[in-house]
Amino acid sequence: MKIVYINGDGIGKEVMPATRQVMSYAMDGEIEWIEARAGLEHYKDGNEPLPAPTVELIRAHGLAIKGPTTTPGGEGFESVNVALRRALDLYVGLRPVFSLGLEGRPTDMRIALFRENIEGLYACEEVLNLDAQEVRLTARFTRDAMYRLARAAFLYAKELGYPRVTYVDKQNIHKVWGRLYHQAFTDVAGAFPEIPSDHRLVDATNMFLSLAPQSWGVIVTENMFGDILADHLAALMGGLGVAPGANIGYGSYVAEAVHGSWPERAGEGIANPTALMLSGAMLLEHTGATHPASRIREAVCKAIAQGERTGDLGGKLTTMEFTQAVLRRL
Ligand code: NAD
Repeated sequence: MKIVYINGDGIGKEVMPATRQVMSYAMDGEIEWIEARAGLEHYKDGNEPLPAPTVELIRAHGLAIKGPTTTPGGEGFESVNVALRRALDLYVGLRPVFSLGLEGRPTDMRIALFRENIEGLYACEEVLNLDAQEVRLTARFTRDAMYRLARAAFLYAKELGYPRVTYVDKQNIHKVWGRLYHQAFTDVAGAFPEIPSDHRLVDATNMFLSLAPQSWGVIVTENMFGDILADHLAALMGGLGVAPGANIGYGSYVAEAVHGSWPERAGEGIANPTALMLSGAMLLEHTGATHPASRIREAVCKAIAQGERTGDLGGKLTTMEFTQAVLRRL
């Protein structure tokens, strides 16, 4: 199996080698790794932040795992993530959330977030009028985008037995796109009468996620709300160090942790590779390698449950020490 990988920036260069080692081991060496480059550090070397050959490699092979890429704040180039998702039409941002048995975190939690990945507030155009000191936004919301996302979400809920699919927006305030998206969602829900579905506002969703995380199933929402909810959900799991994800299109599957490049602590070898390892397991599962995928998940969970932990989970292990702990349990 050929898998394209992008180390990315910051801690990506630490968690990606760790993850590749675990994936290769679980697959008995049956992965041919193909390196592609992207990100701020690649840009600083005089290249495009997202070079066309990188996009083409992923398009050609269909399978990729991506480390985090830094997006300069306030100015500079467009986010590599936004550009990659658009270039490959990776319209599903999937963030599965489950209990890892960590003390003080909810137990028996099983949620899957489906985030619209291409349009909406996150991908809006900003135009600054310097004289007036004002910014105008142009965001695009289409029925097609929500329709295909909702369809992917219902199919996922059906296949994996999630009890409910919930559409989340802010329709009391953003009435027009909220209604457009909601109608598309409702039309898809009609084709899955066996799966209960409902609607919630994003602010209330945040509260109920904290109060009753066990009562949710699949959540479907627009791009920016999904971005924000994903970090809340990551916190319920145990933090950004453990939250996996994937960006999925018709021909490409790009596994990617929810976390960013954590530039402040990059190079110290302390980042938790769990999030990227669990993302790697999602990628293997997608290819049909369900047994190696389960072995990775089980080894990671067992290591954490047995107290083998990096600093973010209250432990003292380095990235590589934790990786060794996972490899010993594979
Ligand atoms: P971040 O995820 O890099 O860091 C936020 C905090 O989360 C850190 O301070 C740390 O406490 C914790 N954390 C993150 N990853 C961890 C790990 N593997 N192990 C342990 N703890 C971890 O988010 P940020 O500081 O908001 O963003 C930094 C940069 O990353 C920005 O340039 C942002 O644009 C970028 N970013 C990229 C992606 C991506 O490429 N998919 C996602 C989010 C943010």
